[in-house]
Amino acid sequence: MYGLTDADLRIQATARSFADELIPFEEQAEAANGELPADVTAGHEKRAIELGLHAANMPAELGGGGMTAVQQVLVQEQAGRVTNALAWVVGTPPSWLPAVATPDQIERYVRPAIRGEAVECYAITEEGAGSDVDAIEATARRDGDSYLLGGEKWHVTSFNTATFAFFQAKLTGGEHAGEHAMFLVDLPSPGVSVVRTPGYTHTISHHHPIVAFRDVRVPAANLVGAEGDGMTFAYEWFRFERLMVAARCLGAADRLVTEASAFASQREVQGVPISSLGMIQAMLADSLTELFAARALVYETARGIDDGADVKVQHAQCSMAKLYASEMAGRVADRAVQIFGGRGYMRENVAERFYRELRVERIWEGTSEVQKVIIADQLAKRGAGALV
Ligand SMILES: Cc1cc2nc3c(=O)[nH]c(=O)nc-3n(C[C@H](O)[C@H](O)[C@H](O)COP(=O)(O)OP(=O)(O)OC[C@H]3O[C@@H](n4cnc5c(N)ncnc54)[C@H](O)[C@@H]3O)c2cc1C
Repeated sequence: MYGLTDADLRIQATARSFADELIPFEEQAEAANGELPADVTAGHEKRAIELGLHAANMPAELGGGGMTAVQQVLVQEQAGRVTNALAWVVGTPPSWLPAVATPDQIERYVRPAIRGEAVECYAITEEGAGSDVDAIEATARRDGDSYLLGGEKWHVTSFNTATFAFFQAKLTGGEHAGEHAMFLVDLPSPGVSVVRTPGYTHTISHHHPIVAFRDVRVPAANLVGAEGDGMTFAYEWFRFERLMVAARCLGAADRLVTEASAFASQREVQGVPISSLGMIQAMLADSLTELFAARALVYETARGIDDGADVKVQHAQCSMAKLYASEMAGRVADRAVQIFGGRGYMRENVAERFYRELRVERIWEGTSEVQKVIIADQLAKRGAGALV
């Protein structure tokens, strides 16, 4: 099915069995604010590296998995079957970085990230700049051999575990004044501090604090690419992450359909399994059908990337994949809660956890509305024939 090769199927099986190892820890994590004992998490991280699942997206010549886009999707799809972000140990370091990083940056950031010794976070969004990244107010000013960075960033995911941050700012002087630039900021660094750590809908150990950067001095060698390049990197990363969000949504929907279907076969009401009731059947049938459609869309998008599709076409297709898969997974989770009835509202139930956790998939890496703007824009420029 789906034209997967033997190598693809082996990778898929490895990722699936690792996800199956993590699933039994979900309820423990849920009951403890998403936290597992440090030695347990360390064990999971080690295993993800040993199995070749961590850094699957990174070039093989740097020690990464060198996997195709299809294979990366297969790995992240299985990771998506696990709640409470326990499968985030299957890390995806910034695959856009090696192509633009200096040899020094490769040694200090890329190789350690691939080895699992360095962890990145992204400090891009601000209180007044989310969907409209261009509205950021963070600043970067060249000062001799270094830059001085300032600004306040919101929702900085994994700041509590990260060893470095990508910080996006607008340049305040020089020939690129007003343009974007991206910087690597070691963590901790003088001038970087948590303003506050809000609570979020999901129960995961990764925090998303508001972080202040006040007169943070970084060497000029920490500029990524050239002055004015900042937005380019953001777009490249969005493309990758949107496809991976879509892949994880497939995994979540697969798990939900499987578990809801099993429950429906076993739960009897008035002497018959609820799986024989037309209204339950309709929810399961809709969910399975939408999962199939989403999976075909996501795999085909990945295959196009592997075949070297035009980058603008990739951009539109990744948006379509993210839009459809995240909305689909939300609908499937909603139906799964309904099928489980009262059990579906209990935090020990997988449907309840996914019902909360999947909500953000329609928001981060570009909201559903923003994906529609991108898709409609590309449709107007290229026509349907080029995109679908
Ligand atoms: C849990 C979580 C983790 C996150 N992690 C990170 C992170 O690690 N790093 C980081 O930099 N950011 C992160 N984000 C930020 C995330 O990417 C933004 O929240 C997202 O892009 C939306 O931006 P916003 O919140 O400012 O919403 P807004 O831009 O304020 O949008 C508000 C509403 O307006 C709509 N809207 C906006 N523009 C348009 C338009 N052109 N047409 C139609 N409707 C529109 C939106 O769809 C939305 O419904 C995270 C967010 C969350 C919730």
